Amino acid sequence: MKTDTPRPILLKDYRPPNYLIDTVALDVSLHPTRTRVLARLKVRRNPAWQGDPGPLQLDGETLELESVRLDGRQLGAGDYRLSDKDLVIGVPPSDPFTIEIVTYCNPEANKALTGLYLSRGVYCTQCEAQGFRRIAYFLDRPDVLATYTTRIEADREEAPVLLGNGNPVERGTLAGGKRHYAVWRDPHPKPSYLFAIVGGNLASYASDFVTASGRKVDLRIYVEPGKENRCAWAMDSLKRSMRWDEERFGREYDLDVFNIVAVSDFNMGAMENKGLNIFNDGLILASPETATDASFAAIERVIAHEYFHNWTGNRITCRDWFQLCLKEGLTVFRDQEFCADQRSATVERIRDVRTLKAAQFPEDAGPLAHPVRPGRYIEINNFYTATVYNKGAELVRMLQTLLGREGFRRGMDLYFERHDGQAATVEDFVACFADATAKDLGQFMTWYSQAGTPELVCQLKYDARAKTADLTISQVLPPTPGEPKKKPLHIPVRLGLLGGNGQDIDLTLASGQRLEGGLLELRKRSETFRFRDVPSRPVPSLLRGFSAPVNLTVELGDADLEFLMANDSDLYNRWQAAQDYATRVLVEAVKAIRAGKRPRKPAGFVAALGVTLKDASLAPGYRAQFLFLPSESDLARVMARDVDPLAIHKARKELRKAIGTTHYRALVDTYREYEPKGPYSPAPEPAGKRALRNVALGYLASRGRPEDIARVAGHFSNARNATDEVSALAMLSELRAPERTAAFERFYERWKDDHLVIDNWFAYQAASPLPSALATVVKLTRHPLFSIKNPNKVRALIGAFVMGNPVNFNRPDGKGYEFAAERVLEIDAFNPQVAARLLSGFRSWKALEVNRRRLAKQALQRVARTKPLSRDTSEIVGKMLE
Ligand SMILES: [Zn+2]
Repeated sequence: MKTDTPRPILLKDYRPPNYLIDTVALDVSLHPTRTRVLARLKVRRNPAWQGDPGPLQLDGETLELESVRLDGRQLGAGDYRLSDKDLVIGVPPSDPFTIEIVTYCNPEANKALTGLYLSRGVYCTQCEAQGFRRIAYFLDRPDVLATYTTRIEADREEAPVLLGNGNPVERGTLAGGKRHYAVWRDPHPKPSYLFAIVGGNLASYASDFVTASGRKVDLRIYVEPGKENRCAWAMDSLKRSMRWDEERFGREYDLDVFNIVAVSDFNMGAMENKGLNIFNDGLILASPETATDASFAAIERVIAHEYFHNWTGNRITCRDWFQLCLKEGLTVFRDQEFCADQRSATVERIRDVRTLKAAQFPEDAGPLAHPVRPGRYIEINNFYTATVYNKGAELVRMLQTLLGREGFRRGMDLYFERHDGQAATVEDFVACFADATAKDLGQFMTWYSQAGTPELVCQLKYDARAKTADLTISQVLPPTPGEPKKKPLHIPVRLGLLGGNGQDIDLTLASGQRLEGGLLELRKRSETFRFRDVPSRPVPSLLRGFSAPVNLTVELGDADLEFLMANDSDLYNRWQAAQDYATRVLVEAVKAIRAGKRPRKPAGFVAALGVTLKDASLAPGYRAQFLFLPSESDLARVMARDVDPLAIHKARKELRKAIGTTHYRALVDTYREYEPKGPYSPAPEPAGKRALRNVALGYLASRGRPEDIARVAGHFSNARNATDEVSALAMLSELRAPERTAAFERFYERWKDDHLVIDNWFAYQAASPLPSALATVVKLTRHPLFSIKNPNKVRALIGAFVMGNPVNFNRPDGKGYEFAAERVLEIDAFNPQVAARLLSGFRSWKALEVNRRRLAKQALQRVARTKPLSRDTSEIVGKMLE
């Protein structure tokens, strides 16, 4: 941990490394408190380096140095300089040369969970972004690519399973039989952040896969013994991902084995280490009783994501950490396309846009706004953000929209062909699409360097005599911290015009050009597009499929929105119309509540929603999405200033009650109609039915009558799968009733021995809107099953409160903020990454009404004043208070 003021790192300062490391031979002797690492590095001068390369400066942190040898000669203390962040060796005598360094590290004491650490007795590693330097002295940067051979030695009893990157080469037992070893070799050059080893007592679930060219790959998922029977879904997802990447992008797997290890202490979701993915076990283990449909879907998505990195991230990696979106944005796009192909494309698109708007739009609108490719950072771990991941994916999607699927594929093929085995940049990536399709993408690059969510202001004017419609689109680019002036962007706008019969009108521009696929390309700050042969006043359906990550402003009356909800041929935009209508109704209601008036009855909206509820021609999974109202956070984001979370909560609760009351009959029918038959399946169709049934039940519960509460309690006790059980628990968590207490008690008794399922028990108490929530959360931090050192537990309890409980986190007395600030400081002392991420609960504090804003600021100032503070937390809190 550093207490000095850290210097920012700038993209424009990038220099290639002065030395390259071609091969790495590691000998790791595992020990809980004193693991010995011998690193043998073959080093040479980088021919791309101009002039004298100077000394060799190797990164290293928290390491205890034993010895350094240069070309076999032992160096004395005067031959190198050692600090707490590097080891500097004076100009070496020969080129190339070999360095052998022996160091020790302490896995048991490592609670930051980066580098080598122990998770429930299993040795594992996390090296992205800069964890390798906590294992060995190295040029720990992504543009140094080497082939690795790793020998791992351990106590046989303590760690019968020993895994490394690449293919297994050799294994054996040492004299005396107490210790054993395994050797792994990875033939593919890779940066150090993709290094991994695992050692422990693990059981495995095995299968295999034959690639398109006929090579057999052994697949194995390693888990805590006794959990093997919960791996089938993850394995099935892996095989489907491998097949899909061959079919969609022509990418085959390239090693003899692919191993996945599930561990229970993990800062992130999962990590794509070459041939040895390491996962948070919550994203591997699933059975119908223990995992909800949402968990099954998340497992499928993350397994695919990490697997797809094998080509986008591993075979082609990033030149420097500023290019993080090159691997993450692209790979999120690929996992989204995979899920769209496996499931309902519309429902997946709705889900992706919901995530983008909930996680990325507030980031872009607040003090943490940064471009998809940032130009500066202090702590790179703070840039694993929704902007880099989710907006980064939208940029790739826009490329596909602009070039068409076929043109996009040609660009990807060229990218794989041109940059395989390299560390590339965003410029390299986009150049492949420009070269493959001869399209000018110069202006498109601005998306990568400019922060903020653009607003598209659209106006449609119809001329009944000339039968023309003029669509004027202006892009408004609000300033973000450090970027007062913005350049216009190249924006794909997909649209349709609906005639009076609800059908799409053929789109012909005044020039006579027919607009195939309804795609306009906006390049100027403001442009008017004239459509001819428009027989009657059309209703515009703009930004179909959410063709660009922007906010859309267009004047549509209630009747227009109802019309779109019922008729739009683009089902995504139908859903969007319902969201817009609901948002309008709710924002008005919030204003009325704050003015002490009664909100007007939202009869039009409620009636329109009922039409879709009853429309059996639409898939249940889609109808479920349609019926979800915008969340309290969505509404706060749209309102943007003077936000009162309690008024928002009340307005939303009232509207839910009105829907539940008005459509009582239809909701009861829906609940009965989709009663599950037969055994549980996580497939999208039955999952969609369960989703619709649970949404219907939720609306019924919002009426709050005894028979409604009894229905939810019955749903809970009769549940035969985790989805129904957890949904009912979530509904009961909002109600003040004895059934609530009974359900939480029963859930606890049933699941207290399962460290994953019990997280629901923590999370739904923490997210409850009841006024007692904060006191409950404080009490639960002392519960024997809670551990502040375990990131999953922190997310389940403290994360659910800070990020998922707007009413109680934003208590008017500021106690929610105080609690969050205290926990951030507590966690910062041992795990800066998790602490800094928890702070993002405050990211929209400047939008709050004046009293809460003052209290939130006090809590942030308290964090900022504390010393020592990690680089991670001090960077985030500093930006928030700027
Ligand atoms: Zn990733």
